[in-house]
Amino acid sequence: MIINRKDNPEEIKKYEHIRRGPMDFPHCFAKCPNSIIVTCSRNIGHSGPHVAHGGWFTPHVYTVWDEDPEPNYQESSKVSPGLKPNDAEAHYNLGKAYAKSGDYQKSIESYKEAIRIKPDYTDAHCGLVISYHLSGNGSSAKEEYKILEGLDKKMADELLNLLRAK
Ligand SMILES: [Zn+2]
Repeated sequence: MIINRKDNPEEIKKYEHIRRGPMDFPHCFAKCPNSIIVTCSRNIGHSGPHVAHGGWFTPHVYTVWDEDPEPNYQESSKVSPGLKPNDAEAHYNLGKAYAKSGDYQKSIESYKEAIRIKPDYTDAHCGLVISYHLSGNGSSAKEEYKILEGLDKKMADELLNLLRAK
């Protein structure tokens, strides 16, 4: 079951009451099965379906799903020991793990390191936009968004839909 705000505007109203976890608190971060960037923004250990919130200022319920979370993020938190200095993917995973734990500053540093190694690393650019956004740095988020848009328009569009959901 996946309910998307864009495709099921009526259906998603039933979930409108579900609130996002606090910004500085580690989130569930389960990955939505039909998306490259959408993750659950509820608190860790929540009951009921996974919910992703979108919107720059007011968080709206954006996507609801109850599939098993992809184990991606659990694994990424174990990445740091033995990190190879030139392994872009390891830095990217570390960035995700820091974002999951609510440490957006360290997450930003890790994503930047991944991008330094691999400048066209779209997942890392996408993560960087989200971490800038969640840390309240809107102007850097927008600058980084423009870079992502130049690399992968489709991913950038999906990200913008998520952030601008009304
Ligand atoms: Zn969840």
